[in-house]
Amino acid sequence: MTAQLIDGNALAASIRVDVAARAAQLTARGLRPGLAVVLVGDDPASAVYVRHKVKDCEAAGLHSVLERHPASMSEADLLARVQALNADASIHGVLVQMPLPRHIDPHRIIEAIAPHKDVDGFHVANAGALMTGQPGFRACTPYGCMRLIETTGVALRGRHAVVIGRSNTVGKPMALMLLQANATVTVCHSGTPDLSVHTRGADVVVVAVGRRDTLRADMIKPGAVIIDVGMNRNDAGKLCGDVDFEAVRQVAGWITPVPGGVGPMTRAMLLVNTLEAAERAASR
Ligand code: NAP
Repeated sequence: MTAQLIDGNALAASIRVDVAARAAQLTARGLRPGLAVVLVGDDPASAVYVRHKVKDCEAAGLHSVLERHPASMSEADLLARVQALNADASIHGVLVQMPLPRHIDPHRIIEAIAPHKDVDGFHVANAGALMTGQPGFRACTPYGCMRLIETTGVALRGRHAVVIGRSNTVGKPMALMLLQANATVTVCHSGTPDLSVHTRGADVVVVAVGRRDTLRADMIKPGAVIIDVGMNRNDAGKLCGDVDFEAVRQVAGWITPVPGGVGPMTRAMLLVNTLEAAERAASR
């Protein structure tokens, strides 16, 4: 068996078309959706991410602001900037790029973002909304993974889903979204003695670890849906995920490639959240 590829680029493109159409409708009513992206310091990977986010907004007709601040910026000054953006009516989504310099507490910054502008979905109000099944912003990466799983047509109700990784931004919200979709969910982490005990029986495996070849072909059930969140470099310096892709695709039913799987969907779901923040502002 060779797995079917789940095409994150194609799905993200169709989502961007829908976002652009809805953004144009709002703009025609005098409310152009706006995203502010704040970058502190000069981490090269973060600089690339924020450029992508701004470019995506422009392409979809959203207003965007990119604020760049030196690594020496104080926490108090960053909090003041967040508060100013919270109060700015032209901005519907506020995103502070992580990681922050060590002298700034990321939790304090995330909690300072107004929950109705927290388009990353990291604020406790939004994390709590997910936990309790209430509407709120969903973290973009797991939200995108759910859309990727949907495209397979595999109904999650009653299926066994395994999430490897338990970060606040990917693994934990992923597990909650799968649970909300009525899957039976197992969460694995660095303390799990043998991942394959769990993954061998899984209908869906989401891997979000940050280590190459975490999931190998002998660890999965034939026909399983494999979602690879990881972003690593192989020995040749090429981007790769957490899954031993070539071997696992011989056993899986569906699989996301890296690049071209989860990455573009994370970007697309940020646009969706920003648009929805603006739509909610329009209806208030
Ligand atoms: P993270 O905060 O470092 O969390 C990694 C998780 O993996 C932790 O929960 C850790 O367990 C677990 N882990 C580490 N080694 C393990 C092992 N040997 N077996 C099982 N679990 C293990 O990372 P993250 O932010 O969630 O990101 C994970 C990966 O996804 C990274 O490669 C990141 O670059 C990528 N990512 C991609 C996108 C995208 O859009 N494509 C978005 C976000 C992240 P403990 O909790 O026990 O330490």
